[in-house]
Amino acid sequence: MSTTPDSAVRAYLADHREAFLDDLAEWLRIPSVSADPERAADVRRSAEWLAAKLSGTGFLTTEIWETEGLPAVFAEWPSGDPAAPTVLVYGHHDVQPAAREDGWHTDPFEPHTVDGKLYARGAADDKGQVFFHTLGVRAHLAATGRSAPAVNLKLLIEGEEESGSPNFPALIEKHADRLACDAVIVSDTGMWSRDTPTVCTGMRGLTDCQVDLYGPDQDIHSGSFGGAVPNPATEAARLAAALHDADRRVAVPGFYDGVIELTDRERELFAELPFDEEQWLRTAHSHATLGEAGSTTLERIWARPTAEVNGIGGGYQGPGGKTIVPAAAQLKLSFRLVAGQDAAAVQQSVRDWVADRLPAGIRHDITFWGATRPCLTPLDHPALQSVVRAMERAFETKIRFTREGGSGPAADLQDVLGVPVLFLGISVPSDGWHAPNEKVELDLLMKGVETAAYLWGDLADTWRTA
Ligand SMILES: [Zn+2]
Repeated sequence: MSTTPDSAVRAYLADHREAFLDDLAEWLRIPSVSADPERAADVRRSAEWLAAKLSGTGFLTTEIWETEGLPAVFAEWPSGDPAAPTVLVYGHHDVQPAAREDGWHTDPFEPHTVDGKLYARGAADDKGQVFFHTLGVRAHLAATGRSAPAVNLKLLIEGEEESGSPNFPALIEKHADRLACDAVIVSDTGMWSRDTPTVCTGMRGLTDCQVDLYGPDQDIHSGSFGGAVPNPATEAARLAAALHDADRRVAVPGFYDGVIELTDRERELFAELPFDEEQWLRTAHSHATLGEAGSTTLERIWARPTAEVNGIGGGYQGPGGKTIVPAAAQLKLSFRLVAGQDAAAVQQSVRDWVADRLPAGIRHDITFWGATRPCLTPLDHPALQSVVRAMERAFETKIRFTREGGSGPAADLQDVLGVPVLFLGISVPSDGWHAPNEKVELDLLMKGVETAAYLWGDLADTWRTA
C-alpha cells in the first residue's frame, strides 16, 4: 500500500499556508448571507469566486448550478482510474447574517486573526471547512507526484444551507447523474474538542407537525355545559401527557419499529468521550437531565428517537379568569428519528395514535411540515475507516466517534444518491457558529487540510469500487 509521506505533505502545507489563508480571507469578505434578499448578488459573487478558485486549483469542470433561489457550485476532477472510488464533498458557501451591533468585536466581513484564531462570519461555518479541500487536494498531488487525485473527486457547495436548503432536494434530483458517487463527505460539522478530535457517524432525522383540536362550535359556558361535553384543551393536554410512558419511552404504537439499536461497541465508544454532564447541563440551560430509562444522556441525544411537545395552546389566555369550554386547542409536536425508522411510517403511527385517543365530539387535523431522514454510517465502512486513518495521521492522536442529534440536508444526499454520508469537520464547539465573533482555529484548519491531503490516497488504496 503506497502511503503519502507525511513529511512531504507538511512541507507543502508550510510553503502554501500563507497564500491559502489570504485566499480564504478574500472569500470571507464576500457577505454571502442567503437569508437577506439584498445580499443575493453577494451570494452569487461568492459562488463565482469559488468556481474560479476551484478551476485554478485544477478541477477540470467547475459550474455554477442555478436553483429557484441562490446558486450552488459544482466541480469535478476525475482520477483516470476506473476502479477508483468516486467521492462527493458537500459544503455551503452561504453564511448566517452578521452585524457589528450583534456583539462582534470587529467587522464580521473583515477577517482578522488574533492568537491563531481567524475571526469572520463563515470562518468555520462553512467557508473555512470547504476551502481546506482546495489546498488538501493540491498537497495530495504534490506529495504523491500525481497529476490527478487518486479518487474521482466531486464537490457540491450549496448557496442556501443557512436558509434551510429549500431548493436543495430538487437540485440534487435534477443533477443526480452528475453527482453519482460511492460516498459523500460532508465538511460542515465539527469535532468534540481540540483535545478530542472525532468523526461524526450519523445524524438524526426529524418530522414535526401541528395537531388542531376542535370541540364546541364556539367557546361555551363552563357552568352550563362544562363536565358534560368534551373539551379540546383537556384533550390536547391528555395527548401531550400520553406521549411518553412511565419510563419516558415514546408511547405511540409502532414508533420504535425498525430502530437500529446501538451496539455494545458503540456504547463503549460513546462512554470513552470526556463528557461532563454538569457542563452540558449549563449549555442546555436546564436544571436536570431526564429522558428514556436505560440510556445515557449522549445516547438519548445521538442515538435514540424522541418525541417533544414544542408548544401547546388553546382557550382563554388573557388576564383573570374566563369560565369557558374553549372551542379549539393546538399541539405542536416534533419527533427526532434514528436510522431504521421510516418517517412516513412514523407520521402514520402518530396520525393513528391521535385518532384513536380522541373522544367523539372532538374533530382534529394533523399537518406534518415535512421530514428529514436520519443517516448513519457503519463503523466498519471502508470510507469511514479512511477518514479516521487520515485524521489520525494529521492529528497524531486517536480519533473517537460522535453522532449529531440535529438534522440536516446531508440526509437528502444519502437518499437521492443512495450512498453513505460521512462527516469530516475540524470545527470546535467554541467556534461560535451562527453567533457573534465566529472563528476558526488556524492550527485545526490546517489539520483539516492535512487530513484531506491524506484521505484521497488512503481511500483509493483501500477501497476499490469496480
Ligand atoms: Zn453550515
